[in-house]
Amino acid sequence: MRLVPAMMPCSMRSTFLTVAVCTGLCAPVAAQAQSSAPLEILYGFTLIDGRGGLPIPDAALAIQGNEILTVSTRRELLSGPDAPRDAVATNLGGGFVVPGLIDAHVHLATAPNRQRAEAELYRMLYAGVTGVRDMAGDGRALASLARDSRLGLIDAPDVYFSALMAGPSFLSDPRPQSSAAGETAGDVPWMQAITPETDLVTAVAQAKGSYATGIKIYANLEPAIVRNITAEAHRQGMRVWAHSMVFPTRPLEVVTSGVDVISHVCRLAWEGMADAPTEYHHDELPLYDHLDAESAIFTELFDAMKREGTMLDATLAMYARAGENPDNPLSDRCQVDFARSLVERAHREGVPIIAGTDFSTPRTDPYPSLHRELEELVNFGGLSAMSAIESATRVAAEAIGIEDTYGVLERGRPVTFVLLDRDPLQDIGNLRSVKAVWKNGERFDRSSYRPRR
Ligand SMILES: [Zn+2]
Repeated sequence: MRLVPAMMPCSMRSTFLTVAVCTGLCAPVAAQAQSSAPLEILYGFTLIDGRGGLPIPDAALAIQGNEILTVSTRRELLSGPDAPRDAVATNLGGGFVVPGLIDAHVHLATAPNRQRAEAELYRMLYAGVTGVRDMAGDGRALASLARDSRLGLIDAPDVYFSALMAGPSFLSDPRPQSSAAGETAGDVPWMQAITPETDLVTAVAQAKGSYATGIKIYANLEPAIVRNITAEAHRQGMRVWAHSMVFPTRPLEVVTSGVDVISHVCRLAWEGMADAPTEYHHDELPLYDHLDAESAIFTELFDAMKREGTMLDATLAMYARAGENPDNPLSDRCQVDFARSLVERAHREGVPIIAGTDFSTPRTDPYPSLHRELEELVNFGGLSAMSAIESATRVAAEAIGIEDTYGVLERGRPVTFVLLDRDPLQDIGNLRSVKAVWKNGERFDRSSYRPRR
């Protein structure tokens, strides 16, 4: 497998458009190193660029190596006055191009199994998923997957992951135990036990040193600690991703701490309860029958999320799937209709929604769970198909902090997008009709996909 070009090359190699897109940041050395990449014009598709505007029919992209040089129309790029003469033109044969999709909630290495993780990532990539946000696991394994994907050594989405922080009492949970195997859970850079005495400057620096992109605030932390972790992580340039209920810190307190994303819509129900448990491991459930998504409690919560810019990682399909199976341990933890109505209201109120799954489809399924989440968001969460696409592209990229690079297709961005056979705006399920995926300049044809177990 060849190495992919640098993620955001500023080298403009072509004779065409060089002045238009090159900036003062361009490095002559890089320009020389990549000058061999041919200039290509891709045409014959409708473009959905990830910004939510009208699709561009009969669109065309000028690309070179891993860079989009121009977003335009076939007419302009093939026969307009500025059409390049030295380009290779490729007709994609109809269909729809969307930015590469991002699953904003995966677990690739809770108890690491490299073969299984690679199989899952391979399935994701060929289904249009070009980025994932891992929400806590073994940082050693995750860093290795992230590196190998970045270098093009495995066929996989780009991997971004979190370093977990929680109160010491949470760390006896079997998941952190397996994610720290060989070491002590709570005492490793990717999974730290936090107390009021913890030196947070050092703790965050250690998390950052594990190659993590964000801190995941999991459980058993008081509001003041959640606030302090968030402030220090932001100061050191890390994203902060929290469970929506941190026990004892409640959803509104989590939001007003300034975290970037909260996960799991069903746990927002605790905001409506006068009494809530103080620790994660407990047997209590919110009294769903007494809760109403339209109540003033959730008005205040969603107002705060809008004010703070907090994104909601609903993981709605996980709850829906669990509700279909009484043997699923999650089946009685959430009331699916309530969860759906909360997502619908959050979206209506203007809270940014990101598409995260937190589960895998069976290994025999040729598609990963992200498609299921997007269908849930459209069919039950009130999102338009366009909003759902944004939730897995532009908005998800913002959650990770890669919005300046990924999530939108425009000049200067990496060649990372998906070619679909059918219109996803007509039916969000058409995101499954993948013909080919480009990730960082490399093309993967769906026809060459071979299931791995
Ligand atoms: Zn999770």
